[in-house]
Amino acid sequence: MDSDKEKENLDVKNTIPENPFSSGEIRTDYRTGLKVVSELSRKNRPSDYLIKEVIDDKGKENCPFEPEKYDLNKTLFEIGNPWRVRVIYNKYPIFQYNAPYAHEKWDIFERSTNYGFSFVIIDSRKHNLKFEQFNDANIRDLAKAILETEKIIYEHQRIDFVYLNKNFGRKSGGTLSHSHWQTLGYTDMPEMVKARLSKVREFKDRYGSCLMEYAAKKEEERKLLENDTLIAFAPFAQLYTGESVVIPKRHVNMLSELSENEMIKLLKACQKIIIANNGYFKVHSYNILGYSLKEEKEFHSYVEIVPRVSDIGPMQMADYYGNNVMPEEYSKEIRAILNNL
Ligand SMILES: [Zn+2]
Ligand SMILES: [Zn+2]
Repeated sequence: MDSDKEKENLDVKNTIPENPFSSGEIRTDYRTGLKVVSELSRKNRPSDYLIKEVIDDKGKENCPFEPEKYDLNKTLFEIGNPWRVRVIYNKYPIFQYNAPYAHEKWDIFERSTNYGFSFVIIDSRKHNLKFEQFNDANIRDLAKAILETEKIIYEHQRIDFVYLNKNFGRKSGGTLSHSHWQTLGYTDMPEMVKARLSKVREFKDRYGSCLMEYAAKKEEERKLLENDTLIAFAPFAQLYTGESVVIPKRHVNMLSELSENEMIKLLKACQKIIIANNGYFKVHSYNILGYSLKEEKEFHSYVEIVPRVSDIGPMQMADYYGNNVMPEEYSKEIRAILNNL
């Protein structure tokens, strides 16, 4: 019996390749604790991603963000007269600023009202101008609008998480092609955000320092760009193919703590990475995601850029994330493109 077992084990041993990671690997993301599987079997030439990206643009005439359709939307504030950037109340809000706040729990059940904030930043009057084409003046206006919108939301009580996000393209979940951003104010942090916070806290308790600042130093191999105010890199465990993180060098727990100049630099870094991603993947859908946690001083605010190379599948729906270009290869290619911009 015993010798049979040994033989069995030996056979197993023989099947392990010399480099056990050569066919792919499972990494654990330090930001969230989520598992990330790299599937390299569908070998990864950018041409694989050449997707006919039809952005379903119904045209200027049907666009609710056009200056002529001013009365369709309720304004929070504007920059410029006539406006160059306009922040509006979302007409189809996830959260309602005028809903009462209530939360209750009984037995195994829990519910709350949808009190919160849903603002849309229309960052250009021009229907077809893409964020990555914005000039310095456009970026300055946008930086001001992002900072101001978050500050306005955080003037209200019970908001503990502000989620800045941009959808561009059909695959990003975006429904309108006219450039815009969303700023959402949550009364309850989503579980994924709680995971991000708990990873930061765990690290702080253990080592007494900031996880994201430590990561920024350790991610040298996967660094994309750096200047005096920020650093951008592909994280060790990219949750999605081509995902990158842009992190301010200064420890802030909310993006609205950044100066206008710091926000401008952050947006410009996002533009560059999007241009490079578009060059590499030939895909033009993307998301930009920003995390601001007002009461959590330990949290280090950052922004993520996700080119929407592939659809969300059943693995991700079970919190098992994935990519099919190794982050090391991705960052090498992106650095090469950035150096030629
Ligand atoms: Zn439009
Ligand atoms: Zn920090």
